[in-house]
Order: sequence, then C-alpha cells, then structure tokens
Amino acid sequence: MTGAATLLRDVFGFDGFRPGQQEIVEAVTEGENVLAIMPTGGGKSLCFQLPALMREGVTVVISPLIALMRDQVRSLQEAGVAAGALTSGNTPEETDAVWEALEAGTLKLLYMAPERLAAGSAMGMLRRVGVNLIAVDEAHCVSQWGHDFRPDYLRIGELRRTLDVPLAAFTATADAETQAEIVEKLFDGTPPRAFLRGFDRPNIHLAFAAKNKPRDQILAFAGARRGQSGIVYCGTRAKTEGLAKALRDQGQEALHYHGGMEAEDRRIAERRFQQEDGLIVCATVAFGMGVDKPDIRWVAHADLPKSIEAYYQEIGRAGRDGAPAETLTLFGPDDIRLRRAQIDEGLAPPERRAADHGRLNALLGLAEALECRRKPLLGYFDETEVTCGRCDLCDNPAEVFDGTTAVRKALSAMLRTEEWFGAGHLIDILLGNETEKVRQRGHQSLPTYGVGGEYSRNEWQAVFRQMMGHDLVRPDAERHGALRMTDAALPILRGEASINLRRDTIKAAGANRRPAV
Ligand code: ADP
Ligand code: ZN
Repeated sequence: MTGAATLLRDVFGFDGFRPGQQEIVEAVTEGENVLAIMPTGGGKSLCFQLPALMREGVTVVISPLIALMRDQVRSLQEAGVAAGALTSGNTPEETDAVWEALEAGTLKLLYMAPERLAAGSAMGMLRRVGVNLIAVDEAHCVSQWGHDFRPDYLRIGELRRTLDVPLAAFTATADAETQAEIVEKLFDGTPPRAFLRGFDRPNIHLAFAAKNKPRDQILAFAGARRGQSGIVYCGTRAKTEGLAKALRDQGQEALHYHGGMEAEDRRIAERRFQQEDGLIVCATVAFGMGVDKPDIRWVAHADLPKSIEAYYQEIGRAGRDGAPAETLTLFGPDDIRLRRAQIDEGLAPPERRAADHGRLNALLGLAEALECRRKPLLGYFDETEVTCGRCDLCDNPAEVFDGTTAVRKALSAMLRTEEWFGAGHLIDILLGNETEKVRQRGHQSLPTYGVGGEYSRNEWQAVFRQMMGHDLVRPDAERHGALRMTDAALPILRGEASINLRRDTIKAAGANRRPAV
C-alpha cells in the first residue's frame, strides 16, 4: 500500500492513518463490500476518498447533506482531485462542468444527494460513465426507524444491483438493529465485511444532572466556558429562543436555531457558528448533522435526548479535534414522561415501540448511573473494555444507600390507588397531606397514608424520578401520565430484590425536613 501512503501524504496532507482507517481503505480499495462504523470525527471520508483515487473509474458518493458535500468537493478540488457534486444547490455552470468531466472520464469522485437517484435518468447515466464504487455516507439514514430516515436511501440498494459494483457504507450510529437494517437494505442481506472502530471518545467528559432551576444550570455551565464554542440542545423551539436570549443577557454570544426558521436564516446561523469563535447555538436536534466544526468545546442538553443513540450522536459533535470537551445533560421526570409519550403516541408498530423504550431506558440508566457513565454508554455498543476517569461520577463517586423500603412504599401507594395517579398525588398520600384531592377520593384512609414522613416532597420526587430511571414505573399516556408499575419492579415489591438509590438528591430528612407545598 505504498501508493496509499503517498496519496495520504501528498493529497490529504496526513502523516499517517488514524486508528482503523488503514484496514478500511485496503478493503474498499480491493473492491470488498464494506460496512464501517466509526465514531464522529474518526475520519470516515478518507476511507472512501483515498480508495476512489486508487481505483479506476468514478466513485459515486451518496450523502444526505448538501453543505457537507460541497465542503468535501471544495477541499478535494483544492488538493487537486477531480471531484464534483450533483445537488440541487448547483449553478447550471457547475452541473455542466460535472457532466463534461464525467463524459470525458476524468472525474474521480461524484457526490450525489440520494434524491437524485429518483430521476430515472440518473441510473442510466451512472451506468454509462463507468462507476466502479459506491460510497454511502451516513448509512443509518436507510433505517426506517432511525432519527434520520431518508426514503431515497432505499434506492441505493437498487443502484448497487444495477451497477453491480462494490459498496462501502459508513455511519457513526449503528446499534445491532440498525446494522441489520443497513445490511438488508443496502447489501440485500448479504453481510459485507464489517469494521467496528471503537466508540469511545476519550476526550469528551460526560456529566448528567437532575433538573433544578434548569435555566440557571445551563447559564452557569455556559458561563464557566466563556469564549468557547458550544451547543445547547433544547426540547422545544421556544426554549432555543429563550435560552439564547438569556445567554446574551449574561453577555455571551448566542444564536438560536430550529426547523421553524427560514432556510436562509438557518444557513446564516450555521455559517456564523462554523466561522466565528466562541459562539453558542441553542438549537433543536435539527442542528447538527451538517455541522463539521472541529473545535466545539462543549455540548449541553437542556432537555433529555430521546435515546442513548441520539445522546451519543449529539455529544459526539464536541471535541472532534481530539482536545478536551465537556458535556452536561439535564433530565427530570417531565422529560421522561414526554419521551415515553412520544414513543407511545408515535405511529411505529409495537415491536418498534418496545425497542424505542429500550433505547430510552438505556439513556435513563446512564442518567441514574451509580458508578461511571462511560461504562454503560459504551456497554450499550457492546464495548466492555472501558477505562474512564472522564465523567462526573468518576470525578465524584455518588453516595448510594439502600432505597428498597422507600421504593416499596412508593409502589404500595401506586398499587393501592390502582395506578391511576401521578407522582404529585402519590407523594401527598405518602406524606399524609390532606389535600382536596386526597379528601375527595378518601385516600386518607389508605394504609399507605402518611407512611413516608422520613422524606421531604423533593426527596420523594427524586425517589420517583430514579424509579422511572430504573424503569420500575412508567407514566401511562392513556391515563394522563399516571404511573404504572413495570415487571422489573416485581422482585422489589415481593422483597426478593433490593435497590440502591443515589443519596445526593435524597438526603434522609429529619432535621431539614421541608414543609410540603
Ligand atoms: P467523520 O468520521 O466524522 O466523517 P471526517 O472524515 O470529517 O470525520 O474527519 C474528521 C477530521 O479528521 C477531519 O478534520 C479530517 O481532516 C481529519 N482526519 C481524517 N483522517 C486523518 C488522518 N489520517 N490524520 C489526520 N487527520 C485526519
Ligand atoms: Zn467514568
């Protein structure tokens, strides 16, 4: 592979391969079908760009992001590589130049948006011009249930069959289920050679915090990182605007970004973030896939992401340059309720909903972790050899205590009211608060009434939140969010299992018991 080493240096200006790149480059160059899963920033593009130069003919690159395609084409051209793109953003002159180079047989890389495959003429054209490799970026977009589904990605399988050339698929997100879907949809079910490059991003520090005046928590986190580029992911469009304003009020440069903005305004925000230093973008998840800024120093979540995969992808936008980066993810019972409801009320079939609950549970497990966050995170991607020391729990081990009794009292209050109530009313029962609702329902005569006096209202809220986090209870959308017990809670209820809870949010009360409000 001396040729590859020379090209690596002369064309791309790199001294050596990053971990995992060389094997992939070799396999793709030799014409194997390849599925490569690499973390964001791992250097995926090189793994198809370099083979494209090593092989005869043209390589077609399918990518979902016009901005990213244009960036790659520009830098390839600057490096003297014959690359072009056919996208809706082209000027007629650009398109003509691409066609000419294709017909003349001089083009090495042709970038295309998947939508282009819908035009019948595209297939014929690609067959005529001697395409000999298909590279698919962001291959998880073929997954119908993933967060980035692109219907036109489903045409890629047909393209591969028609051209009968090797295909190399790349993605940063792929749990076992998504991988299987990629193999089925892109490779007709014949497993390609798979490369799984470690998911750890050791330079990213992980931290979670229960919401407690969340706006102040975000402002403090950002305020401690003045002058650094960062992203605040928000659950709603309104929050992106509110937080950006609050940040500006405390003297920081901040923009908002969401799918409800005009395309032009979004482009301006993306460009400013890319070019300026120390800018903060408060955004919905609409912001990100096309962001290729290597020096994002921090990512905060003002609301809980929807799954462990979404979390991994979103924090993964920080620190692509390899320098230390910080993250903070806030979560609370409302987030859990919202995310569960979104899954339950979605249109997905039941087995898919169960999988989505599983992905949310994996994230909640991370949020309520007792020891280290990196271990459960990477464990989700089947990585077991994990060294951390770069998470809030490794920095400050959480204090835990046996919460079995508290959990059993809470479950008992739920069951005696037939799982028709939310945490607020259940806590009133546990604390023995004679509210209007308690009186109306006669709940002051329940055996559980007033048995929870050892904890304050806030502390009981933390117990319920941790119970949701461990998936012992789930809000039921059909009962207006009333908590219902899951099978996972049965062993605890029956006294067959115990459970540890985190002490930091639940200090055994007594001296400092707060009045119930
Ligand atoms: P991703 O896997 O997220 O698509 P990119 O292909 O954009 O990552 O690469 C991320 C960054 O790493 C880019 O700035 C790229 O120039 C750089 N990079 C890729 N390969 C190497 C290498 N072998 N040596 C040094 N830098 C590299
Ligand atoms: Zn850790």
